[in-house]
Amino acid sequence: MPADRLSGAVAGPDDLVQPFRIDLFALRGRLVRLGPTIDRILSQHDYPEPVAAMLGEAITLAVVLAGALKYDGIFTLQTKGDGPIRLMVADVSTAGAVRGYAQYDTAKLDAALKEAKGTAASVPGLVGSGYIAFTVDQGEDTDRYQGIVELAGVTLAECAQHYFRQSEQIQAGIKLSVGRSGRGGTWRAGGMMLQRVPPEGGYGVIPDDVEDGWRRAMVLMSSATAEELVDPELPPRRLLFRLFHEDGVRVYDTHPLEARCRCSRERIEGILRLFSPEELEDMRKEGVATVTCQFCNQSHLFDEADLERIRVT
Ligand SMILES: [Zn+2]
Repeated sequence: MPADRLSGAVAGPDDLVQPFRIDLFALRGRLVRLGPTIDRILSQHDYPEPVAAMLGEAITLAVVLAGALKYDGIFTLQTKGDGPIRLMVADVSTAGAVRGYAQYDTAKLDAALKEAKGTAASVPGLVGSGYIAFTVDQGEDTDRYQGIVELAGVTLAECAQHYFRQSEQIQAGIKLSVGRSGRGGTWRAGGMMLQRVPPEGGYGVIPDDVEDGWRRAMVLMSSATAEELVDPELPPRRLLFRLFHEDGVRVYDTHPLEARCRCSRERIEGILRLFSPEELEDMRKEGVATVTCQFCNQSHLFDEADLERIRVT
């Protein structure tokens, strides 16, 4: 894989994954920047601000984690909880198509925001008790990988770190930031993940310098501010250079990301074919059945002729 040493002078666009390594300490990482992609996904829905921000974090986390895996298919992150946001789903395809949606309870959300005087933007406050799950789907006839862990943390990044501590025996640090920028108020998001890659066969004893390097890198990563992670004026490479230049950080080719849903008329027709004639009849209003995609909020209309065809085939 081609790698070049950072000069700290290269401009970088939005909507990308920037992989990097710090070889000295066996560290691998990724910096994720989401501009128009996250704005488009969050703007497709009319979510209350705290719900949109939390979903933005979930989507960014999904992209950060997907970049750690070698897979050919779909990586999905899902949270389920007893709080105002009962469900969040975010998925990322190998090609970099990203989408996500949330389901929430307005009354519960109002109560939670009132109780916390508008500062309830935490996982316990918005998602509540529940779990976070990760799935890799590589198509039919392949094993689905699934990881699941209880929500334990104030932020989604902490919940994911808890997962790694519990189930993967991988040391990982994650930092996420979501916010609106500029006068237009468009959404932006950024995320970073660092992980230590043990040598083949694992460490017998972790050498002191490797352990110190890990701690040092974690401190440096934490020193990046929420603003720096989303700053459109600060290219990803320059941020990495600012943080890790003394440790010889190397960057690799970036992967592009884009807001793209996989729903299609054909796919929805396939689902409708599984419905009974009575169920299809129940869906029909003024001669038309409307199916709205939860991910992208696009409505697909099926008229009488379409429904007839679906019933017959
Ligand atoms: Zn869709």
